Amino acid sequence: MTDSKLSFYRLPLKDLNDLFQRHGLPESGPALLYNWHYKKKHTAPCVADLAKVSREFVETSFDFTLPSIQTVQESHDRTVKFLFALRDGFTVESVLIPFNNKYTLCLSSQVGCAMNCSFCHTGTQGLKRHLGTEEIIGQFIGAARWLSQARPGDDKILNVVFMGQGEPLHNFDAVKTAAEILLERRGLGLAPHKITISTAGHLPGLRRWKDEMPKVNIAVSLHSPLKEKRDQLIPLNRSYPIDEVVAFAEEIPEGRARFVTYEVLLIKDFNDSDEDARAIGRYLTGRKAFISLIPFNPFPGTNYQRPEMERVEHFKRLLDHYRIPTVIRKTKGDEILAACGQLNTRFGVTRPLTPG
Ligand code: SAH
Repeated sequence: MTDSKLSFYRLPLKDLNDLFQRHGLPESGPALLYNWHYKKKHTAPCVADLAKVSREFVETSFDFTLPSIQTVQESHDRTVKFLFALRDGFTVESVLIPFNNKYTLCLSSQVGCAMNCSFCHTGTQGLKRHLGTEEIIGQFIGAARWLSQARPGDDKILNVVFMGQGEPLHNFDAVKTAAEILLERRGLGLAPHKITISTAGHLPGLRRWKDEMPKVNIAVSLHSPLKEKRDQLIPLNRSYPIDEVVAFAEEIPEGRARFVTYEVLLIKDFNDSDEDARAIGRYLTGRKAFISLIPFNPFPGTNYQRPEMERVEHFKRLLDHYRIPTVIRKTKGDEILAACGQLNTRFGVTRPLTPG
């Protein structure tokens, strides 16, 4: 393995096909490789059915290194948090969230984050670097391999959400390619619209989305439509106003039934009043909107607090008057997830694991 080799996990099937064609290699190769590395999730280079000439090409051209699982934490509700070690010593986390015997996988797109949102623990670290496509896909493969070993028969990852560390649209190219690979039928084969990318309102990425991003869902972190409050929560709002963000986001969902998910983080005595609920209701009336209410997750050093559950439920009832579908995002695995970016907790079971 040398650094001059291209990571295999950076290539959508189409690009792999082009590469094989350019080198005059048998055209069956890319599908075999996809089957081996993505469907079967082998991490050792594929040698089995490849023609000798293809095998030599693969061995000299590609690197198959993926992030390794450093720790796994499991909570009582079966949520699993992984800490992945990257080549340069940085780490990122991913979370498997169970529902109805299936899982949603929450992926990170960057080490740290440049957005500096006032309520987010990751933001306090600043941006260390973007993740490469292979480091995003590697989180999926690592989690899937762990699941099939640790929970055989209960190991289906149905949904993927880009809601871990980082602003996915700030790392547009790597996230876009990762989405293509996740959706590839002959590979990881996630169903269309089972992938959701959440953004703090990164306009440059939203402008590119319609023409470039494959068919995935969009979620916008709204939190408040009121400029003064949103400016305080998401500094990005000062350069990329919410009205423009929403205008671009609304262009994305396809078909009448499709909608934009608006995440509304609720912070006690900051944006959880009746007035705040009405402002959101008025702002989203007439839009293709679905609201996901997220009670604030406290972390050390923050001055914000989580509202009482009664307040959150009252907030939802106020929104119901506007006939906007609203769910309260249930905090799963909170004893291991206490906050975004917080890795060690009193209750989580941490054990090192070497992927086999
Ligand atoms: N950068 C993207 C995706 C990462 S955050 C975005 O901003 O959308 C995913 C979701 O978690 C966002 O809606 C974010 O606002 C929310 N979030 C961040 N910190 C949180 C906290 N301390 N408690 C609860 N939700 C939080």
